[in-house]
Amino acid sequence: MAIPFDNRYAALGEGFFMRTRPTPVPAPALIRFNHELALDLGMDPERMEPEYVARIFSGNEIPEGAEPLAMAYAGHQFGFFTPQLGDGRAILLGEVTGRDGRGYEIHLKGSGRTVFSRNGDGRAPLGPVLREYLVSEAMHRLGVPTTRALAAVTTGEGVFRDRVLPGAVLTRVAGSFVRVGTFEFHARRGDVEAVRKLADHVIGRNYPELAQSDNRYLALLEAVVGRQASLVAKWMGLGFIHGVMNTDNMSILGETIDYGPCAFMDCFDFDRVYSSIDQHGRYAYSNQPGVGLWNLARLAECLALIVDPDMEAAIESVKNILGGFMPAYESAWLEGMRAKCGLFRTDGAAGRPDRRVVDDLLALMAKSGADFTLTFFLLSSLRDRPAAGDEKFLEQFGPMADPVRKWLEEWRAALARQSVGEKRRQEEMRRVNPVYIPRNHLVEAAIRSAEEDDDYSAFHELHEVLQIPYELKRGKERFQLPPVPEEEVRQTFCGT
Ligand code: AMP
Ligand code: MG
Repeated sequence: MAIPFDNRYAALGEGFFMRTRPTPVPAPALIRFNHELALDLGMDPERMEPEYVARIFSGNEIPEGAEPLAMAYAGHQFGFFTPQLGDGRAILLGEVTGRDGRGYEIHLKGSGRTVFSRNGDGRAPLGPVLREYLVSEAMHRLGVPTTRALAAVTTGEGVFRDRVLPGAVLTRVAGSFVRVGTFEFHARRGDVEAVRKLADHVIGRNYPELAQSDNRYLALLEAVVGRQASLVAKWMGLGFIHGVMNTDNMSILGETIDYGPCAFMDCFDFDRVYSSIDQHGRYAYSNQPGVGLWNLARLAECLALIVDPDMEAAIESVKNILGGFMPAYESAWLEGMRAKCGLFRTDGAAGRPDRRVVDDLLALMAKSGADFTLTFFLLSSLRDRPAAGDEKFLEQFGPMADPVRKWLEEWRAALARQSVGEKRRQEEMRRVNPVYIPRNHLVEAAIRSAEEDDDYSAFHELHEVLQIPYELKRGKERFQLPPVPEEEVRQTFCGT
């Protein structure tokens, strides 16, 4: 079966990538192939034999029409600039046109060394591959823009880390794998023409509606600022911590990209950090909006080179646009959090008192270490008036139950200020407060049984539960529960 490739990134020409073929692996075996996504990408999964899928998505066979390459990019990592990073263990196979008419890039991760590998082996251990598969697909189902997982394949080869781990390759799909760091790569070399070419490429492929703007590069910055503001607000509303928001891990499309040491919070803490390498908490939960803006400022510096020949005017213009980030973020965040609390009144009068209700709840959750997801889930079922269900909700807060009882009064007063019936309000809340998220301990358990016993049943079962995250499913109660202390995952690793 042919995959109809088109390769607009390859057409950018020299300086943007290195043509590189994946390094073959000894025994590719398919773990999972995302049929639904394959269909969306115009493939015919029913006619693709698992052996063929494993050969293609391990890099052992290059499908006709693909032009494999490693993308060049730079990036600010933990605030420090590295002029050349690039795809050190990833290879872009090319681009296909989805059933929606848009272009989607297909990227192998763990497919061998490239010119950008530095000291790395170009490989990926099985654990991080399974984790990215589970979490990125869950994010998609939760309604968060993200790269997708198309396939996961084991390689039959050991990968050397602190111990020998089974190797795997993940195939991911995105509207574009261009990052903020891709712009930085060219800007820092002073290659203004390359910055312009890249910006035109991104506009042409991903933001065609901007092509006619008065200043399309400013319009691009504005669009990216808007998408990132909305993306980070969505993360915050789900208790998601990206963990490594370096500029090379920030997509030009506002999709979540690079699932390394990411985590969904269990017990709530504004300053929560999971990543083992984030020693100073730069990428802590509450820092994410600020870091998002910091990263966008790096993009703005690149685009300033092309928005206006007069540098001072250019800086003024990009600053103005960056100034829109926090207000856009705040408003997306507040709207999302109000919805999580069942507060939907749209007239202007609602904003401030509702904000207090939201802030007070988060403060109480933080003080008591309430489970983020379960608290909002239980809140969704509470009645407009005090009722039996209150007790279960209050239990989440342990010794803080009394102030939470007070908060419930405040909350119910806010509900009474809007004219939304109880049933509809509960339904709307269930649409935004998930039952199931990829809890760290469940992801870890699925990885462990794959790694140690070659048993993928926990991986597949967890994946299935996460496909319908907003509906309770009979018999899957344990997937909803926070970890018991022995199960709790306190630290995550980037798996590079
Ligand atoms: P990350 O932290 O995963 O976003 O990766 C940062 C940079 O390190 C990127 O340029 C990656 O391609 C590169 N990298 C990460 N892991 C490896 C590896 N095992 N081999 C080669 N390059 C790697
Ligand atoms: Mg990365």
